[in-house]
Amino acid sequence: MDKVECIAQNIKEVTGNMQTAAKTRGRDPKDVCLIAVSKTKPVSMLQEAYDAGMRDFGENKVQELVDKYEQLPKDIRWHMIGHLQRNKVKYIIDKVYLIHSVDSLRLAEEISKEAVKRQLEVNILLEVNIAGEESKFGITPEDLIPLTEEIAKLPGIHIKGLMTVPPYVENPEENRRYFRALRQLCVDITRKNIDNVSMDVLSMGMTGDYEVAVQEGASYIRVGTGIFGERNYHIAK
Ligand SMILES: *Cc1c(COP(=O)(O)O)cnc(C)c1O
Repeated sequence: MDKVECIAQNIKEVTGNMQTAAKTRGRDPKDVCLIAVSKTKPVSMLQEAYDAGMRDFGENKVQELVDKYEQLPKDIRWHMIGHLQRNKVKYIIDKVYLIHSVDSLRLAEEISKEAVKRQLEVNILLEVNIAGEESKFGITPEDLIPLTEEIAKLPGIHIKGLMTVPPYVENPEENRRYFRALRQLCVDITRKNIDNVSMDVLSMGMTGDYEVAVQEGASYIRVGTGIFGERNYHIAK
């Protein structure tokens, strides 16, 4: 099988698994969206995924997102899923469909400032460090509600939901409790009825655990390896 068929085939397979997982929980498969995480992969491979029907792509580096944005069709919805430095917000703010990785008030303030300056309305998710891992970015569950209340007051920015990157596990069942916990946080925030906050979006689930994430309510799953194959950080450009 050549590479083109392979990416198209992978997309078909992941989409099928995603839809099955949704149906087993009585969810409408249309409520779950697959993001092709294309970090480190060349533009030619993204184009193949695009030709196979993908329109949502996820990147974790600002420069890489901007480079790819310039070379690929303009109807792609770009998702910023990686840690975002404040001084780089200005490069992507007019290019991204959704920023998944807002993890501090200072970052939200910077996004708000740029959004107002350019008269944009920017949709964001708050990244939660759901397992409390030392090594991970993200807001702790304890800080989430007060921080949501602060960020909600900022102009030009809209909180649409939550995102998490749970621990890497061999058995995806081990992450079910974290996906449930993220959904519960959404429910808790919704109950607070904070102005300018909607909690419709749950961005959770990667190659190893996306089916469990969909069963637990994911609206976006972020799949890289399962679509493009393993990443090689050494030869990648
Ligand atoms: C790389 C990455 C993914 C995709 O990981 P895979 O295991 O390759 O599917 C998803 N989310 C984030 C935030 C990532 O950085």
